[in-house]
Parts: sequence; structure tokens; C-alpha cells
Amino acid sequence: MAEYPNTLLHIAGTWRGGAEGRTIDVLNPANEEVIGTVAHATRVDLDAALEAADRGFKVWRKVSAFERSKLLRKAADLLRTRADDIARLMTMEQGKPLGEARAEILGGADTIDWFAEEARRTYGQVIPARGEGIYQLTIKEPVGPVAAFTPWNFPINQIVRKLAASLAAGCSIIVKAPEETPASPAELIRCFLDAGVPGDAIGLVYGVPSEISSYLIAHPIIRKVTFTGSTPVGKMLSGLAGQHMKRVTMELGGHAPAMVFDDADIEHAAKTLAFAKFRNAGQVCVSPTRFLVQERVYDQFVASFANHARALKVGDGLAEGTTMGPMANERRVPQMEAMLADAVSHGGEIVTGGNRIGNKGYFFEPTVVTGANAGMKAMNEEPFGPVAMMRPFKDLAEVVTEANRLPYALASYAFTGSGKTAQALAAGVEVGMMTINHLGLAIPEVPFGGVKDSGYGTEGGSEAIGAYLNTKFVSQFGL
Ligand code: NAD
Repeated sequence: MAEYPNTLLHIAGTWRGGAEGRTIDVLNPANEEVIGTVAHATRVDLDAALEAADRGFKVWRKVSAFERSKLLRKAADLLRTRADDIARLMTMEQGKPLGEARAEILGGADTIDWFAEEARRTYGQVIPARGEGIYQLTIKEPVGPVAAFTPWNFPINQIVRKLAASLAAGCSIIVKAPEETPASPAELIRCFLDAGVPGDAIGLVYGVPSEISSYLIAHPIIRKVTFTGSTPVGKMLSGLAGQHMKRVTMELGGHAPAMVFDDADIEHAAKTLAFAKFRNAGQVCVSPTRFLVQERVYDQFVASFANHARALKVGDGLAEGTTMGPMANERRVPQMEAMLADAVSHGGEIVTGGNRIGNKGYFFEPTVVTGANAGMKAMNEEPFGPVAMMRPFKDLAEVVTEANRLPYALASYAFTGSGKTAQALAAGVEVGMMTINHLGLAIPEVPFGGVKDSGYGTEGGSEAIGAYLNTKFVSQFGL
């Protein structure tokens, strides 16, 4: 078994401890044992990282898009080669089953390849002029050094969308990666460095998130801020970025409606949605959370979904056959317990699950609650755990109203046999992403992002690299 390393900061091309030598313990959520430490950055380290990002930007922006693309593709290949070893580290620090960790890493490599290709397509325009001899051009330029803040639920995937896009565009970047899951992000960054990306172009820091974000966002060297995490923190960081006129991308929380109509293939819907619900123990921003099922098929759907939930094998993500790991950190357990107690007090019935498993490791039963209603906490706040809330609906108008009730608007799911219903949902639901009759979200070539309180900007598809580019206009006469 690969040994879990102590994770260092990466600043100005070297791996090093924090200036004051402080570290933070890293726990394995499957057994609560301390498996290593991560270095804690201080102001001195952040200043060094900022200076490096400034230097790195001046060098990296001059590397041709063709060459940047080649280096990124090399990083993707290295990541694929190292996927098995890195997956083991990710499972040890985050808890997800080894197969999910491996899939995340291979998906990360595909994301790097996508942005490597995009690097060579940052086209400007030639705009028809009003007079002879005038040339009007737009040029796409990298926005500058980027500060990226990412969470623990997908230690690699959340970083790679920001890192690959920044580097593809010609930006340098400082990543504040999650302290709870630090080793796999460090290995991701090592792939880029080993591929030949200059050390100054990529910084990696850990520490106290609020101290790091308030310092980096306000700093004049940083030109762009990108954050994935909860809506309250996202609003705070956007406010700070606004004060300092920084470009921003925000990928925040969701509360995805999963709408199942009575003309759908119910068994397929239950199986597909159960897979989506319990992946990463439900700690996914696009996880289906409000299950809205048409009355005639409600009982059938609930029974089938609950059977899929009961069939999951909950355990240590490293153990053979585990299909759901522990939750990633201690604070999620009381949050699940409080949400479920609140749901029951509002008339909910727990059909399966509902409890912590054992008293070592943050394991929780895959849980299904019926009788869900708008008075329940879990129907208003992102559960971010293995809890599915079920509620019947009568018709299209009712389900669209419920889908749009919350300020969150990231992902949505629908199952129907009717093209007309699918069209009405696509038009009527206020949301960043909708997938109908299958799981079609979060691949590199399609947009990824929310609207309303779920944030703004997209981290996938052909628009994503634009978040790291400025448009410069040049008008030229007589040359
Ligand atoms: P949290 O709000 O404390 O932290 C969420 C993430 O934001 C963490 O990675 C944290 O390090 C970071 N963060 C917190 N304050 C910050 C600051 N001032 N500056 C920079 N980064 C900061 O919550 P948590 O307990 O870690 O997770 C709970 C909730 O966060 C979940 O219920 C979920 O709603 C949300 N979350 C969302 C995602 C996502 O993918 N959108 C991922 C993780 C957590």
C-alpha cells in the first residue's frame, strides 16, 4: 500500500514547509486516525507565492499556445499513469471508494486534455470597419495571476477545472487546496511540474482558508478569483472580489430536483438516480436531493430506490466491494442527524437508513425519507450527505413550481417518456444544468455551472477558458 505522505506547500518551484513550521493533521475518515500532516502557510509564504505568480505569469504568457497545449497534454498523460497510486491517497484522505477516486482522476486527465485543446483556439475577431484602411481586431489575452479556492469533496476534480483552464489561457495560478484532503491535489500539481510547466506558474498553499482568501483576493497581483464551495462563503468572497474589481467565477451549492414522471421507465430512473445520489456519499454539489415523483408511480419509485439504497455496501473505501465510503469529515455526521430529526418532526418517515454506522469513522446509512415537505430543513438546505428526500407531485406545473422554489439553481434531473414534457422542463426550470433520462453532467466538453445562488460562470465546455481571458480591442489605420 502506498504510504500517505506529509504534504508540503509548492512555492516558487520548490516544495517546502510553512515559514513558521506549523502543520495541520490529516485524518482518514474511515477510521479517524491521523495519517499525515499538511504544511500551514503564513503571510510570508503567501507573499512568496504571490511574487512567484507574478514572475510566473510574465514567463508563462509568452510560451506559445501550441507549446502550452503540448505541456498540458503531457501532464494529462502523467496523471493517467499515476492514477492508481493517487487514487489510494485520495481514498485515504477523503473516504470515497477506490473506484470513484480512480474515475475522478481519469476524468481530471480528460479535463486537462480538453483545456489543452482549447488553448490553441482562443481566437480573436476581425471586425468590419467603417472606412478603408482601418483594421479592427480583438485579441484574447490571459487575465493574469489567478487565486483558486477548492473544497474537499472532489480533491482533484475541483482543482483541475481551474488549474487546466488557467494554464491553458496563459495565466499563472495559486491554488488554496483543501486542508482535509491535501495529498492528491499535491500529486496533481506534481504532474504539471513534471510535464515542464514552470515552477513559478503554479503555487499550492494550505492554511486557514479565510486568512488566505482575504489576503490573496485583495492583493493587486491577483487578477482573477475562482471558488468552489458553499453559497455563504461564495457570497462573501464575491463581495471581497468586487471591492477589488477582480474577475470572478463562483461554483456554489445546489439542491437538485430529480423529477420523475409517470410515463418514464421507473426502474431505470430509480437505479440511475440511486447511483447519482449515493456517489461520494452524497457530498456532491450536483447530487439529486429533492426527489419529486408523479403520484401514480410514487410508491413504485420509492420501493425500487430504497432497494438500491439497501444494496449499497458501506465501508472503508480501500476495502474490496465497498460501494459507499464514509462521509469526509466529522461535522457531516451531526448535520445529517439534525436534518433527519428535523424531517421526522415535520412529518417525514424514514423508509431506510437514518443512522450513523458504528462509532469509528464517519459512516452513515444510505437514507430515504418520504413525506418530504417545504417546511423541512433538508428540503431547503443542501443535505450534502447520503439522504434522499421524496415527495409526490400531481402535474407539470406543480413540479416546476417546486423545482424553482429555492434560490439554488445548479443541477436538475428529469425522467419522462414525453418529448413535450422534456421540452417544457428545459424551458421552465430555472437551473444551470438539466439532464433527462440519463446522467449527462460534468464531462469536460459541456458547460458546468449554476445560476441564482448557485453562482456564475461555467467551468466546462467551449466558454470555460473565456473566464481566464481578457478581450483587447485594437483599431489600426494606415499601416
Ligand atoms: P464551509 O462552508 O466551511 O467550507 C466549504 C469550502 O469552502 C471548504 O473547502 C472550505 O475550506 C472553503 N472555505 C470556507 N471558508 C472560506 C473562506 N473564507 N475562504 C476561502 N475558502 C473558504 O463548509 P464545509 O463544512 O466544508 O462544507 C459544508 C457545506 O459546503 C456543504 O454542506 C456544501 O453545501 C458546501 N460545499 C459545497 C461544495 C461544492 O462542490 N459546491 C463542496 C464542498 C462543500
